[in-house]
Amino acid sequence: MSRLESIKGIGPRMKDKLNRNQIYDAFDLIRRFPKRYEVYHLTTLKDAADGARITIEAKVTSVPTVAYIRKNFNRLSFQVVIEGRPFKVAIFNRDYLRNILDIGEDIVLTGSMDRTKNTFTATTLKLKRNFKNEIEPIYNIDGISDKQFHKFANQAMDDYASFIDDDLPQELQEKYKLIPYHELLRIVHQPHTMKELDKITRRIKYEELFKFQLKMQYTRLKNRSKKSYLKAYDLQAVKDFIASLPYELTNDQKRATNQIIKDIKSPYIMNRLLQGDVGSGKTVVAAITVLAVLSSGYQVAMMAPTEILAKQHYRTFYKWFEHLPYDVLLLTGKLTATERSEILDKVKHQDNVLLIGTHALFSDDVHYDNLGYVITDEQHRFGVEQRKKLREKGYQPDVLYMSATPIPRTLAISLFGDMDITTIREKPASRQAVETKLFSLKQMDLVYMLMEEELRKNHQIYVVTPLILESETTDLSNAQNVFRQLRNHFKDYSIGLMHSKIKQDNKEQVMKLFEENKINILVSTTVIEVGVDIANATMMVVFDSDRFGLSQLHQLRGRIGRSTIKSYCLLLHRDDDEVKERLEIMETTDDGFALSEQDLRLRGPGEFFGYRQSGDMKFEQADIVQDAHILEIAKQDALDILQQKDNYYNPKYQPLFKYLKAQLRKTNLD
Ligand code: ADP
Ligand code: MG
Repeated sequence: MSRLESIKGIGPRMKDKLNRNQIYDAFDLIRRFPKRYEVYHLTTLKDAADGARITIEAKVTSVPTVAYIRKNFNRLSFQVVIEGRPFKVAIFNRDYLRNILDIGEDIVLTGSMDRTKNTFTATTLKLKRNFKNEIEPIYNIDGISDKQFHKFANQAMDDYASFIDDDLPQELQEKYKLIPYHELLRIVHQPHTMKELDKITRRIKYEELFKFQLKMQYTRLKNRSKKSYLKAYDLQAVKDFIASLPYELTNDQKRATNQIIKDIKSPYIMNRLLQGDVGSGKTVVAAITVLAVLSSGYQVAMMAPTEILAKQHYRTFYKWFEHLPYDVLLLTGKLTATERSEILDKVKHQDNVLLIGTHALFSDDVHYDNLGYVITDEQHRFGVEQRKKLREKGYQPDVLYMSATPIPRTLAISLFGDMDITTIREKPASRQAVETKLFSLKQMDLVYMLMEEELRKNHQIYVVTPLILESETTDLSNAQNVFRQLRNHFKDYSIGLMHSKIKQDNKEQVMKLFEENKINILVSTTVIEVGVDIANATMMVVFDSDRFGLSQLHQLRGRIGRSTIKSYCLLLHRDDDEVKERLEIMETTDDGFALSEQDLRLRGPGEFFGYRQSGDMKFEQADIVQDAHILEIAKQDALDILQQKDNYYNPKYQPLFKYLKAQLRKTNLD
């Protein structure tokens, strides 16, 4: 009954157009709110600021002239007086107005003025007799004019709005003084005052964020309520292991360990993110928790995104667990058939196994005896599907995701809202901060000298460039070029080249040579693996460093400073004060979380979206950065409702739970 064709003016062709814009019935018409509004409210000179967008009355005092600047681009100019004061008006691409604007005509201009030059640059011009003091909804719907869409929406409203439930609980509407949904619908397609606009925005923002949190928290609570095996671990073994470490754990490490072990012990599954800067000591925390699970008689699988990383973890864990009754095994794509079947055999029949590897861990032929704990390192490098597959290899195993990418707190609560989060901020005291310095490209001689100094000490250097090859569209430095340049300059040293276009085998060969100190300088794009640990590399030189986000530079910088030897990061940039100012933060702070907050402020959230599917996070009105405080309130509100089991049966929440169910069917959160 709510078919689109039931709306006057919608025939088969219009229906197709609407469908293409994801509008399938009359309710969709109602719910497609304007993207934004153009406000045409008359102001006076006294209240108008130069440069601001204003709407003001004017009287034409000269015959308009048109300048044709280029194809499809012309400028109409004429004189007006505004409150007795002369202005010269310019408006683009309105040559057709020339014959309408007679001297003495009263008009209304929207645009901005400059009183020092007595000019007015208009974006909209209306005749005064046609002008309404109004707020115009802008829908931006492909192929359909705002006016037309507005008509459809209004008719849909008349016929169908009364069938729509208000699913935001009454008590929340009252708590935040939000308007009821029907009032929202009444004004959203045609607000008349700024106050109304404000009311709409408040309700929509809160509702969007609340519903988002409702979904996230529901998923998190549901996951948490899934039963896992009870794991009774050997406390003494864990204590002994901690005592055997050559250092004392930091407070953050202790707290993280406790949180994870508590989850492991609990009869419910764990779904937890462990985040901390490179070098904050996540691996040893993981190791303690791995040991706890092994000691309780369950197997553990640990997945790394690359062979190099998997091998590195394997070596570390092998050494740690050498004297313990557990088998640490490595499974990669590189094994011979015999090696592979030997390992798979153990995994199938032995419970005292820690299996480390790449995505090979969830190949079809890998059968676990009793997988109880799954760790994924650098979790964002795996797709949802891959992570799910590995999880399904066990019976409700506990899952820990590790990430070395500090995500700003305000984003983490939305990006990872459906998980529990443990953060390690503190770094082991033994770590040497990397000394970071900015250099202009004009100071290359100095840069070369500093490089030479490190090379002479037999230390190794990473050189990072934004591009692989020469590009016709930018003059940014590229790896190929820099590689040649350095080969010319450092004739006595061996230089390696690494980027994504190099074949996998060669990549590994180059990495191996670098690890063995047979390559002194490694030129690469940002592909140098996160987590690669080459203690002898003590310098990093980043070309066009202003092209990278601060978080990314910090990640890169994490490749060095991995031993007690002093390390240096040289950030090269073109001369530009603004660029310099942003980069200077790198010189003074070594806190990845602080840098990621800066990135968020300066570059927006886009940078971080790669770390999680963010399809669910496109909000119409809310801005996850600016409205982060609402997001937090909304999270608590959602939890308050979800944690009270009776609420699921309370009639007043039925519309809300109906909404939730529909959403969960639509999106398949992992
Ligand atoms: P992450 O995995 O978080 O990048 P790692 O676990 O690799 O960090 O730790 C980095 C280095 O710090 C390792 O060499 C590790 O041995 C060392 N380390 C970890 N915890 C401590 C600590 N509490 N005190 C001193 N050194 C530590
Ligand atoms: Mg690590």
